[in-house]
Amino acid sequence: MSRFWSDHVVDLAPYTPGEQPKINNLLKLNTNEHPAGPSLRALEAIRAVINDDLRRYPDNESVALRRAAAGLYGLEIEQIFPGNGSDEVLAHIFNALFRHGDRPLLMPDISYSFYRTYCQLYQIPYRAIPLADDFSIRVSDYTGPHDVAPAGIIFANPNAPTGMALGLADIRSIALANPDIPVVVDEAYVDFGAESAIALLHECSNIVVVHTLSKSRALAGLRVGFAIASKEIIDGLVRVKDSFNSYPIDSIAQAGAAAALQDTVHFEQTRKVVIQARENLSKQLVSLGFEVLPSSANFVFARHPGHDGAALSRALRAQGILVRHFNQPRIDQFLRITVGTPEDCTRLCNTLSDIILKTH
Ligand SMILES: *Cc1c(COP(=O)(O)O)cnc(C)c1O
Repeated sequence: MSRFWSDHVVDLAPYTPGEQPKINNLLKLNTNEHPAGPSLRALEAIRAVINDDLRRYPDNESVALRRAAAGLYGLEIEQIFPGNGSDEVLAHIFNALFRHGDRPLLMPDISYSFYRTYCQLYQIPYRAIPLADDFSIRVSDYTGPHDVAPAGIIFANPNAPTGMALGLADIRSIALANPDIPVVVDEAYVDFGAESAIALLHECSNIVVVHTLSKSRALAGLRVGFAIASKEIIDGLVRVKDSFNSYPIDSIAQAGAAAALQDTVHFEQTRKVVIQARENLSKQLVSLGFEVLPSSANFVFARHPGHDGAALSRALRAQGILVRHFNQPRIDQFLRITVGTPEDCTRLCNTLSDIILKTH
């Protein structure tokens, strides 16, 4: 608190990222980073631009990166809006698309917590709509008729931190029932097993899909994400971006991201490994007595009927294993566990098994 701060800064509740501590032999399963390294082609492309040309500003339109993304999905380059991580892309989406006076943004009560932070930052009213008892998104809650016209709809698919995915038919119903407002689908984890709403763009001009290179492309350190939408929507995002920072993606990130998107071999191989490890991990957790929600992401969300979530998280930390625990109604008994390498999963399960046996 300081007298120098603007009023709204005093009231902000900033997003709390998973911790990145320096502990020996630490197993980090708390921020959904990819267990494999990034594409070697991306690393080569990065090395190739580390030279005297860095004295120059980067391409403010990120043309090579946008072309790579457009090519991947058979879209026009004008439909791609990159940013410094998808968090920044989301920030511009909230600013450019969701600020309509008293009209609320609709989102699930259990979802990516950054959405509420951005609502606060941009002073956007929102309605947190409870997930069903099985933690699925109830489509009929979003298809209306709405008592107050909403400003927009946002959800993550697969959802975070549940990992549960909504099918394309359901997303289509939500988008078609709300043709005059943006429906934003945050697909940070889509490559680990859900269907992308990109397939709906040709018939739903209100859909905005958000992707990141931080999860399935193993490049969280590079900070690149992008929105995919109609040219009309993208133009609005560009206006906001060019009123904020016209060079959000540095030359190194542009080169690395473009090359990573083109390396389909690395992408397919590494995501298959994660998906397989997730299936094995879920089975092992079930055999330890956990209830595990059906995950289409690179993490699982699990609770043990006989053990408190916060206590399990603390006990794991004492053994050098970090997982994410949310002290939030409905989900405070759950642990969100990132899928690591098969060895990581074994260490986690052995440690959990010890903890559970000891405290019984
Ligand atoms: C990780 C994550 C992001 C942010 O990704 P960055 O591109 O690293 O900023 C966005 N949305 C969800 C749901 C995420 O889990």
